[in-house]
Amino acid sequence: MPILKNAWILVADDRIKEIGVGALPEDSRYDEAIDMEGKKLLPAFVDSHSHLVYAANREDEFAMRLSGKSYAEIAEAGGGILNSARKMTQASEEELLADARKRLSALVKMGTGTIEIKSGYGLSTETELKMLRVIRKLQAESPVSIKSTFLGAHALPEEYKGRVDDYINLVIEEMLPAVAEESLADYVDVFCEEGYFSLDQSMRVLEAAKAYGLSAKVHVNQFNSLGAIKPMVDMGAVSLDHLEVMDDAEVEYLAESQTIATALPGCSLFLDISYTPGRKLIDKGAALALATDLNPGSAPSGNMALMMGLACSQMKLRTEEALVAATLNGAAAMELSDDLGSLEQGKLANFLVLPQEFTLASIPYHMGHNLIEEVYLKGNKIV
Ligand SMILES: [Zn+2]
Repeated sequence: MPILKNAWILVADDRIKEIGVGALPEDSRYDEAIDMEGKKLLPAFVDSHSHLVYAANREDEFAMRLSGKSYAEIAEAGGGILNSARKMTQASEEELLADARKRLSALVKMGTGTIEIKSGYGLSTETELKMLRVIRKLQAESPVSIKSTFLGAHALPEEYKGRVDDYINLVIEEMLPAVAEESLADYVDVFCEEGYFSLDQSMRVLEAAKAYGLSAKVHVNQFNSLGAIKPMVDMGAVSLDHLEVMDDAEVEYLAESQTIATALPGCSLFLDISYTPGRKLIDKGAALALATDLNPGSAPSGNMALMMGLACSQMKLRTEEALVAATLNGAAAMELSDDLGSLEQGKLANFLVLPQEFTLASIPYHMGHNLIEEVYLKGNKIV
């Protein structure tokens, strides 16, 4: 990873026009010069997997878990994703938007400039559409670059208990066409996991979505491997996310593919489950991305600096690898790497400013302390 000293960046409108070292070219014209002597500029973080739009935090369930209940027991008692779904049904689009806006601006202060946001707490056509419309509204108003993912098959709604295939049919026959009709999603996702959706059911949704031009970014191998990696890589998934449970053959297959492997270490920390084998994946040649999985049930932190800290301390990434995973590879996991994720001529001018006393290693070392002094998105100072 090249580090430029005594460098300058020329920004025009929302993009990086030129980058250089030493004196500016004599013919450079600019309206404003900002002196950043001694400071460090890094690309803004790219969080390629989040559930930022949700109706309520779930501190109460956290307390249940601390008193000895398992994730499965909490889900059985009406908690978990279904709890979020119930609150989502009751919330208005305006309330959801106001909450999401607040949450997003907190993330920007911590350096996030690009984010993917999923639906998946609706679990009915109407409420899934409501979530996706909120994501589109955020996208229209925010300086943050946002992609939207339809996750209708996130959990089974209560009224479909014992009729998983009927729900999958609803997702395919009613939700997907409605989502496509309003162009509300850029990607499709499924929770492929024991007790949620089988590999067959997941593949049915992903294949159906393909017909609407939606590529796959999928929740796989979180608690169990259902053998999803090979078929999903083969069908051209953009990213496979979670991956806490993988055997060596799966690591190799994914590493040799074009699919981005996305680790969500905040979820591993919060649920106290194993970490994605990031070191192994990178050593085998995978493009590894780091994302927060920000959600009220299993990953309440949206702090990308903390994800870098966990990636280094728990997954044994080097600091440069953690930064690439939290920026450029995240952008690739959203098919935005031509525009975002690194400081390069022609890309959007999205960068963070670190004060003089810190280095790149300070970010993972301080485990989530916010060291960032300023944040520029699309050429404008936001923080
Ligand atoms: Zn997730």
